[in-house]
Amino acid sequence: MLTGSLMDVAQADVKELVEGLNFAQKVDRSLSLIEQAFAEFGDRLVVANSLGKDSSVVWHLAKRVRPEIPGFIVTTRFKPAETKRFMAEEVARYPELRVFDNDEEIPDRLYATDPDRCCDILKVQPTREAIREMDVACWVTGLRCTEGRTRTDFKEVEERDEGLIKLNPILLWYEREVWQYLALNQVDVNPLYAQGYRSLGCWPCTKIAQGADERAGRWVGTSKCGGECGIHTRPLLES
Ligand code: SF4
Repeated sequence: MLTGSLMDVAQADVKELVEGLNFAQKVDRSLSLIEQAFAEFGDRLVVANSLGKDSSVVWHLAKRVRPEIPGFIVTTRFKPAETKRFMAEEVARYPELRVFDNDEEIPDRLYATDPDRCCDILKVQPTREAIREMDVACWVTGLRCTEGRTRTDFKEVEERDEGLIKLNPILLWYEREVWQYLALNQVDVNPLYAQGYRSLGCWPCTKIAQGADERAGRWVGTSKCGGECGIHTRPLLES
């Protein structure tokens, strides 16, 4: 159940805040949200780290609040080699980051024939497992409402599954502010950004894209184009 100040945050006017707060105010707000959530959930507060730029910001913010805050990475057999190398570096640096994946057999090219099912098996199921195994009460994500058409309706604090809070502490940040934070704090990022990618995923489903929609390069050529893998839209507490 949401309580007290986090409940107030859940009711905030997101659009007004995105445009009304400056970069420094957004950083302060994000830190304060993580502090409040840590005060409420303690060691059951866990960061989901996708190894993308937004996760790198959230991970860095969480470490500023409490270095011991744990995290999990969901990886798949289709992650690019660069992401796998970056993952190995991050896990070596932060032993409190746990890695989850699903190695069950799936049909060849399922990502092309049924990407929703592929994402469900390879991404959503291991996310459920991470939440169950780490006994998560509140998970922290790098989701941002300016990323693309599917991300405009989220809140900073949500309870999509009863009993599981989701905190989106950088929901209000623009793409520019993400890079501003990473540069100012000299945070290491996934090397794929140097090649021109703006949103990272599995290699069969990720292209370099230009234009306003940051996620336009995801699942190009499928009904899922620019869409979601499901971890932010599907129930996470059912098996
Ligand atoms: S992003 Fe593509 S390859 Fe990765 S799990 Fe989803 S459909 Fe499969």
